[in-house]
Amino acid sequence: MRKEKYDVLVIGSGIGGMCSAALLANKGYKVLVAEKLPLIGGRCSTVDYKGFKIPTGVLGVPSGGPFREVFEEVGAEYDACPSPQGRYLINGKELNVPDKGGFRAVLSQLCEDDAEIDRVLSAMRRADKWEGPSNEISLKDWLLQHTTNENLLGFFNNLCAMYAITEDHETSAKDFFLIRKLMIRSYGQVHFAPKGNIALMESLAKVIKSKNGDVRAGCRVRQIKVSDGMAAGAVIEGSQGELEIAAKVVISNVGPKATVALTGKDNFDEGHLREVDSMRPTLQMWVTTISDRPFFETQVSFLGTRRVLNCINPTLVCPELAPSGKHMHHSISGPHSQFGSWNLQEEIDLHIQDLKDNVPGFEEHGEVLHVGCYWGEWPTTRNSPYVGYTPLSQKTPVENLYNVGDGVGPRGWPSGTSGCAVTARIVVEDIEKRLEPEA
Ligand SMILES: Cc1cc2nc3c(=O)[nH]c(=O)nc-3n(C[C@H](O)[C@H](O)[C@H](O)COP(=O)(O)OP(=O)(O)OC[C@H]3O[C@@H](n4cnc5c(N)ncnc54)[C@H](O)[C@@H]3O)c2cc1C
Repeated sequence: MRKEKYDVLVIGSGIGGMCSAALLANKGYKVLVAEKLPLIGGRCSTVDYKGFKIPTGVLGVPSGGPFREVFEEVGAEYDACPSPQGRYLINGKELNVPDKGGFRAVLSQLCEDDAEIDRVLSAMRRADKWEGPSNEISLKDWLLQHTTNENLLGFFNNLCAMYAITEDHETSAKDFFLIRKLMIRSYGQVHFAPKGNIALMESLAKVIKSKNGDVRAGCRVRQIKVSDGMAAGAVIEGSQGELEIAAKVVISNVGPKATVALTGKDNFDEGHLREVDSMRPTLQMWVTTISDRPFFETQVSFLGTRRVLNCINPTLVCPELAPSGKHMHHSISGPHSQFGSWNLQEEIDLHIQDLKDNVPGFEEHGEVLHVGCYWGEWPTTRNSPYVGYTPLSQKTPVENLYNVGDGVGPRGWPSGTSGCAVTARIVVEDIEKRLEPEA
């Protein structure tokens, strides 16, 4: 079998993998990224379908925070355009979100009296500035201690489903407040990549290749090699057959479950296997509707719908993503309960009914291009901040074998562009402390 040697092998070219590889290559480590699919980026990539550029996951990218900072640090181009300020619609009526003093003003449109606003705001302030709630209580139960106002509960539920993917009754109150404080506040304004998310990932690949590393698509890792309890490399299979990679460090971006399968269960202790079993991936559905006019003049989030959370139109600012004169809208929904039972067809029907009821012009001018359901091996997130959850460490029990990506986001950064970039940063800092570049 042919052999190659690297300082670090990265398995998978999702955000966690590419950010780790770019940061390490920039610091002088010789890195190989092996990606099994013919295109790089994982759930932050783009496929061309009937002339439209459809995301494989990530819709909007942040203007700031940990993901953007990786590009700045390694000198990779970040080609993204800002989207106009979004709007909230409650049963067709617009919620006014002012630039300053926004949250009180929003609550005042949802609450019956000032005493209720004060009660909720002061509980939120305590959670932010003093001590967050326990992760043994759901956001919904936490809110019910301060209000029973249906409008207000609906508003928080919508925010929660957008940020944590799970609804308020399944999300830990502790994590909701931490996500709001860390992930959301650093995110900045929503941006869209005019050449698709794949261009952002290719720009990281360019940096890796320019620094003595490589990124190979169509290259599946078959087995992670372990020697004396330490990661030693992997066997990979590409267009030219099997290849043995020797590496001092292996970073897996394929999710903790698949990492265990590639390495062999016997290499992990029982505690780690139980933690991996406790992960709860999430499902979201996405309907992509095309039309010759935009349904809204900005991005819209809904309150009070059966299922649909928002309607995003990246072609408002990036017309290059669609054939000339066409608009592309993505509407997103998830089941009320991620962990109970749900019926896929029912979920799709409720989604479409919501679009008919809430999106003016959907029936007359819209054509459904694609319905995507993201779960299983291609979930919306690999783990969720459910009530009672404890985040997994990026380090595995096998020395020098790390996980990155949204299966191992630390508390407050569970998933998405920011969360995955944070896992890369944590792992790279640990490698730097333990290992000099060599290969
Ligand atoms: C529909 C949807 C919408 C989303 N919207 C947003 C959003 O708007 N904003 C946001 O921040 N986040 C969003 N997310 C979440 C975001 O996409 C994910 O959190 C993030 O992209 C996960 O990245 P990751 O690092 O975990 O790697 P992944 O994307 O999971 O990549 C892992 C890679 O490993 C490869 N691989 C697997 N097995 C092997 C093997 N044996 N050998 C080699 N390669 C292998 C896979 O092919 C894949 O490319 C969305 C997700 C979905 C699905």
